[in-house]
Amino acid sequence: MAEHESLEFGKADFVLLDSVSLDEFMANLKLRFEKGRIYSYIGEVVVSVNPYRAMNIYGRDTIEQYKGRELYERPPHLFAIADAAYKAMKRRNKDTCIVISGESGAGKTEASKYIMQYIAAITNPSQRAEVERVKNMLLKSNCVLEAFGNAKTNRNDNSSRFGKYMDINFDFKGDPIGGHINNYLLEKSRVIFQQEGERSFHSFYQVSEGLTTDIKKLFLFCQLFQTPDKSHQTCIVFSILQSSINDSADFKAVTDAMKVIGFTTEEIQTVYKILATILHLGNLKFGSDGDVTLIENSKLVSVLGDLLSTKDENVEKALLYRTVATGRDVIDKQHTHQEASYGRDALAKAIYERLFCWIVGRINDVIEVKNYDARVHGKNTVIGVLDIYGFEIFQNNSFEQFCINYCNEKLQQLFIQLVLKQEQEEYQREGIPWKHIDYFNNQIIVDLVEQQHKGIFAVLDEACMNVGKVTDEMFLQALNGKLAKHAHYTSRKLSPTDKNLEFDRDFRIRHYAGDVVYSVVGFIDKNKDTLFQDFKRLLYNSSNPVLKAMWPEGKLSITEVTKRPLTAATLFKNSMISLVENLASKEPYYVRCIKPNDVKSPLLFEHERCKHQVEYLGLLENVRVRRAGFANRQTYPRFLQRYKMISEFTWPNHDLPSDKEAVERLLQGCGFEHDVAYGKTKVFIRTPRTIFSLEEQRAEMV
Ligand code: ADP
Ligand code: MG
Repeated sequence: MAEHESLEFGKADFVLLDSVSLDEFMANLKLRFEKGRIYSYIGEVVVSVNPYRAMNIYGRDTIEQYKGRELYERPPHLFAIADAAYKAMKRRNKDTCIVISGESGAGKTEASKYIMQYIAAITNPSQRAEVERVKNMLLKSNCVLEAFGNAKTNRNDNSSRFGKYMDINFDFKGDPIGGHINNYLLEKSRVIFQQEGERSFHSFYQVSEGLTTDIKKLFLFCQLFQTPDKSHQTCIVFSILQSSINDSADFKAVTDAMKVIGFTTEEIQTVYKILATILHLGNLKFGSDGDVTLIENSKLVSVLGDLLSTKDENVEKALLYRTVATGRDVIDKQHTHQEASYGRDALAKAIYERLFCWIVGRINDVIEVKNYDARVHGKNTVIGVLDIYGFEIFQNNSFEQFCINYCNEKLQQLFIQLVLKQEQEEYQREGIPWKHIDYFNNQIIVDLVEQQHKGIFAVLDEACMNVGKVTDEMFLQALNGKLAKHAHYTSRKLSPTDKNLEFDRDFRIRHYAGDVVYSVVGFIDKNKDTLFQDFKRLLYNSSNPVLKAMWPEGKLSITEVTKRPLTAATLFKNSMISLVENLASKEPYYVRCIKPNDVKSPLLFEHERCKHQVEYLGLLENVRVRRAGFANRQTYPRFLQRYKMISEFTWPNHDLPSDKEAVERLLQGCGFEHDVAYGKTKVFIRTPRTIFSLEEQRAEMV
């Protein structure tokens, strides 16, 4: 008997539970976690619980055990799903994708890395040099992206602060020949502000720990790192040294990876200079003399001028003035103290975000598929891996959480469409008797956020379009006006007695995963995401060609800038819609990650925390649909093609009136008729064990 059937470790597949209830689900999940079985299945969905300890289950020998095997032949594992996605792609020429979801710290990024490692390990048996190069690049890119896109948060020492979707392209032999990375919404506000106990992006600490003093001097770092000014709000705090993070070792690994990927020395130096620029900006203070705004520590101006390879006076001017066109005249308007501070922070955030996107772009240049001629080599197929931020409920939830939670609504909708709805519809279509399973369809919440004219994003954009001063409160009023009757929206104004809505600035969305109270403060600014054009011109006019290339829009003069840039909400919404379209066009595989506790303990299974996750991930509905349903389905001709050799009635050909009858005869002969149902075009097989047995018999014959 396969290990996954041993009761000692609980049920390896939740579909095999004696009865489907939340209690039983939880008991099984807990038992498996305690027995060190961190993976389980719901049919073909992998449920993973973060073990918070090193597990000896990812080595070469384990990889060998999963290679080319069917899902149900081995204990549940990420490798099995990676193999299933790979096989589907190779055998059936299908694009597939693996969607990894779960909240922060649940183990998504680690899972995505194991999946990539597995795919790298099982491909390219003939060791072709170009394929080896591509594989190496794909693996190395992770390390660079994590340095610039991850940070220590209170939930996760290595938390991804951006969403990542990576395509791996394969040639007709099934070997990786390239890839492409899409990144989503970097949490750039972290550059200027971190919660208590959290850090900014790893990259800042890596350069501060890793750069030699000589180089630091060269880049004018030295003075900064010796006397970081902690009094200023935007200063990066360097004091949190976390034992789990070794910044200087990571610095070396990242620099090596960048070199391998092909970043030039000039590019790498520019990266350091940009990091230094941001740190110095953090120390820049404004003061005023009467009506005049000025820079208090003006020595920094020349430091910035050097780092950005531009004239000091241009830096000073961009920090203190804004060029505005009034009719035919162009005038320099002085910033108020507040505007200048806003501009400085916006600049720090924008150059970091631009740096990050540029790094992703450079990696894409190197890994993109080259010289592939589909006419010669056949279709190039793709496996996509999505590692994106999970649902977030913080003490204080703002625009970022709103976007992230909207993203999770979209992905849940996709899951419903693909797994729950399609499954039910297929049974109906095939005429298989079927009891409808109820599940909550979250389309209504997706609409609440993204619908044209009426949705929250639309209301926000409209508020941002208004001329004159628009405040967050005005935006909230507009929401209240439009959404007063919506079942999933409320606010302090609409529900004054609700204790969870403490402040006038609060509104609440009833998400599929639970209620989240958002503070409206900052929505307008974050959505407008204004970076004064003067900064763009400053950076474009740098004599550093790498920096210049990052800011092409700085080319436009003040009178040429006419179009309003798209808002942050619109950009995010568009990127989510295209992500979902892309995923929907592929055959999906799911990994659902669960975080067992909030203290990173390998021993603790916090029942309530886990139960909540099981509920909002919709795992129980998933089991119900799966149980009511069938593990496997194949069209009659396809089934015969694979198994006809195991029955005398069908080998080498059958003389029955239809393939359907031939399949019936074959399955009766094997004694499986109680475990199958016959649809109009497909045979449905209830339990994996039956497939397993058919496969075994087939193996004996061929
Ligand atoms: P997420 O991406 O979901 O926020 P991560 O993948 O970064 O979470 O995981 C958070 C931490 O949990 C990791 O840094 C690691 O310490 C631990 N962890 C996650 N998955 C595993 C695993 N399979 N084995 C051992 N430790 C893990
Ligand atoms: Mg992550």
